[in-house]
Amino acid sequence: MEFKMPPQFTSVEEALFSVFGAGSKIKTVQKLAGGDINEACRLTLSNGKRVFIKLNNKKNASFFSAEAAGLAAIAGTKTVRTPEVFGFGSDEEKSGRSFLMLEFIGEQKPVSDYWETFACQLSAMHRADASSFVKDGTYGFVCGNYIGSETQINTGCCSWTAFFRDCRLKPQFKRAAAYFDQAERRQIVKLLDHLEDILVEPEQPSLLHGDLWSGNVIAGHDGNAWLIDPAVYVGHAEADLAMTELFGGFPQEFYHTYQEMGLQQEGYRRRKDLYNLYHLLNHLNMFGRSYLLSVKRIIREYVQ
Ligand code: ADP
Repeated sequence: MEFKMPPQFTSVEEALFSVFGAGSKIKTVQKLAGGDINEACRLTLSNGKRVFIKLNNKKNASFFSAEAAGLAAIAGTKTVRTPEVFGFGSDEEKSGRSFLMLEFIGEQKPVSDYWETFACQLSAMHRADASSFVKDGTYGFVCGNYIGSETQINTGCCSWTAFFRDCRLKPQFKRAAAYFDQAERRQIVKLLDHLEDILVEPEQPSLLHGDLWSGNVIAGHDGNAWLIDPAVYVGHAEADLAMTELFGGFPQEFYHTYQEMGLQQEGYRRRKDLYNLYHLLNHLNMFGRSYLLSVKRIIREYVQ
């Protein structure tokens, strides 16, 4: 599997010229709803082509280089469709904003076996050789990235359990420290010290989407699932599966098919909430107290 970073540009115009030919012009700009963090727009070019663009402040340019790297990694597995990354960068002279330019996914009615096909494709992505996506270790990613607006550390690590503790749970607990009293902090230390008793090392490291909730899976123009907005890293496939169950879940056909693919290890249900503790802590840190009870419930579930 080869990892190739998409091109970087110093203006939206430069990106358009490079991808669609010199002289390409934007005819209309349509703002799109739905993004939590960035401004999202559909650009229609003078040649009729449609392009998706996300914009943010220049200081947040690294959101987009990280997302571009993540989409390129998923595309490199040749399993689940992702929008082609046309480029990313900062529009230095005109808007002063950073941007990510992608193929526009023209949404379509899902095909009848949409969830079964997606489960097969996702398990193929989880089975793909992930070694070229990690630097200095077995788990991690070639660069740091973001989960929502929070940074995600992807320093390479040789043990999944150590990676999940040091690069996932610990930084989130550190940010959330003020929410916990002394007794709870002791529970957290105990939990982190005993992760080896709960987690298992995977049979093989997998490239994960990293933020796999239903809003990040959309039916593209082929009627099949396309992945957007990833927070990729190489980890245990169960962490992706767990996240699909966090906010409402996917239809049963998806889980049946994914299970038939044989990637789920014995005892997954006992580990699921621990994986999701990471995302709930992240929501606590991004959106506040409404996630605190769920976080505390999971800590108590694992530490008596
Ligand atoms: P954010 O990074 O702010 O969370 P999203 O990636 O969720 O933004 O995208 C915002 C909106 O744009 C969502 O409604 C999403 O479905 C849509 N979207 C994302 N990528 C594309 C694309 N390549 N083509 C068409 N629509 C897209």
